[in-house]
Amino acid sequence: MALPNPAPIADGMVVSIHYTLTDDSGSVIDSSTGGEPLEYLHGHGNIVPGLEKELAGKSIGDSLKVSVAPKDGYGEHDPRGRGKVPRSSFPDDMEIEPGMQFAGEGPNGEEHVVWIAAVEADHVVIDQNHPLAGRTLHFDVQVATVRPATKEELAHGHAHGAHGHHH
Ligand code: ZN
Repeated sequence: MALPNPAPIADGMVVSIHYTLTDDSGSVIDSSTGGEPLEYLHGHGNIVPGLEKELAGKSIGDSLKVSVAPKDGYGEHDPRGRGKVPRSSFPDDMEIEPGMQFAGEGPNGEEHVVWIAAVEADHVVIDQNHPLAGRTLHFDVQVATVRPATKEELAHGHAHGAHGHHH
């Protein structure tokens, strides 16, 4: 039985990829190896722009290596985004560890995400920069599946996946 022509990746397609992300020294930062592929809706900014751009036009089975500069990844690291808050501004019984992520509120009530960078005796160092800001990202990617998005996925701007609707 002949396989259908592989559909190229374009805006409005749901794509799943296996990937390994390494830093400049070759250390693995993240990988889907041994797990589920990462599924995303192409053309909606679900993944970093530098990788999304390179995946356009690829199809099932294609492999690619992409190096993404900070400006096309998680942005440059802005030192002004880093600050200290008293440990007492978090509940006493809350476990706080570097790498944790919180939704905070800006001066104008806008929501933004902060990451815990370090925990000291009296202070917690928080950072509004993504932990990978300022880093060049090296992706080794294989395209696992490509399918048209459903109407609901397009309306929501993200993929819903084979296991139902997760938000
Ligand atoms: Zn949704």
